[in-house]
Amino acid sequence: MVNKFIPKTKAEALEILSKHDCYILAGGTDLMVVKKNVAGSLPKFDKDVMYVSHIDELKGIYKDEKGVHVKSVTTMDEVEHSPLVPTLLKKAVSELASTNIRHFATLVGNIANASPAGDTIVVDVILDAVIKLESVDGVRFVKAEDFVQGVRKIDRKSNELITEIIFPELDYNGEMWFKVGSRKADSISKVMVAGIYKITGKSLEKCALVLGSVSIKPIRSHELENELAGMSLEDVKKNKEHIVEEYSKLIKPIDDQRSTAEYRLTVAKNIIRKFIDQIVGGND
Ligand SMILES: Cc1cc2nc3c(=O)[nH]c(=O)nc-3n(C[C@H](O)[C@H](O)[C@H](O)COP(=O)(O)OP(=O)(O)OC[C@H]3O[C@@H](n4cnc5c(N)ncnc54)[C@H](O)[C@@H]3O)c2cc1C
Repeated sequence: MVNKFIPKTKAEALEILSKHDCYILAGGTDLMVVKKNVAGSLPKFDKDVMYVSHIDELKGIYKDEKGVHVKSVTTMDEVEHSPLVPTLLKKAVSELASTNIRHFATLVGNIANASPAGDTIVVDVILDAVIKLESVDGVRFVKAEDFVQGVRKIDRKSNELITEIIFPELDYNGEMWFKVGSRKADSISKVMVAGIYKITGKSLEKCALVLGSVSIKPIRSHELENELAGMSLEDVKKNKEHIVEEYSKLIKPIDDQRSTAEYRLTVAKNIIRKFIDQIVGGND
C-alpha cells in the first residue's frame, strides 16, 4: 500500500523522510507526468508520497550576505517576478513551459528532476548556485555543478529535503540566455546555453559558458574559462573558431524524439559563435 503524507512543518517533513522512502511532490509538474496512468485515472505511485507545496516555511525568496536564497517550494512564477533574482535566471524561467505550469512548477523541482533538458539547471550551474539539503542528521551544501550527476541522478540521500538554492552575488557585466525549442513558447529545449562575462576596457576579464541538452548533464569547462580569462577582445575574436572547436569536443548530443545529435551539435556551435560575437561586440 502507498501512504500519503501531508506534513505541516519542515521539521515534520524531515521526520517523515527519516522513516519513509518517499516521493517528494512539490508542483507535481514532472512527477505527475512520470507517474501518469491511463486517462481519467489517478497517477500510479509505487512508493509513499509526501506533499510539500503547502508548507509556508519552505516558500519565499530572501537575500543575505551569502546571496539570494530561493526556498524549495517557491514557484517559477515567483522567481520570474522577484526583484532579488538575477536577470539571467529570470530570462530562463520566463521561457520555461507556459504561464500555467510556472504557477505550480518550482525551481528546486527543476534541478531535483535532473532532466538533461532542465532549463534552469544550466543557469544554476553558471551562477555557481549552491543546493542546501536538510535532514534530521543536519545540513549539507552541494554546488549545483556537482549536484546533478546524470540523467535523473542527483547527490541527494533519501532522507534529505532540498530546502534552498542559493545564488551568490557574482561580478559580471554581460550575459546571454539562448534556448532553442520547437516553438517560441511552451517548448522543451533542444539546446540551451547560458553565458556570463566581464569586460574591462579592451579585455575579457572573465567569462563562463554552460550548455544544456547536449549531454547527460550541463557542460561547463573551467579549463577553457581560465584560458579565456584576461585575453584581449582582439584575441578572443581571432580565436573564435578555436574556442568553438574546444567546446564542441565536450558536447555529447543524442538523437531523440525532439532532435538529432547532428542538429544539436550544429546549433550549439552556432550559439557559442553568437556568444563570442556578443563579447567582442561589447554588448549584452
Ligand atoms: C507541459 C510541461 C511543459 C514543461 N516545460 C518545461 C520547460 O520548458 N523547461 C523545463 O526545464 N521543464 C519543463 N517542464 C518540467 C517541469 O515543469 C519542471 O521541471 C519543474 O520545475 C518541476 O518542478 P515541480 O515543483 O513541478 O516538481 P515535481 O514534479 O513536484 O518534482 C520533480 C522532482 O523533484 C523532486 N523534488 C521536488 N521538490 C523537492 C525537494 N524540496 N527536495 C527533494 N526533491 C524534490 C521530486 O521528488 C521529483 O523527483 C515542463 C512540464 C510540463 C508538464
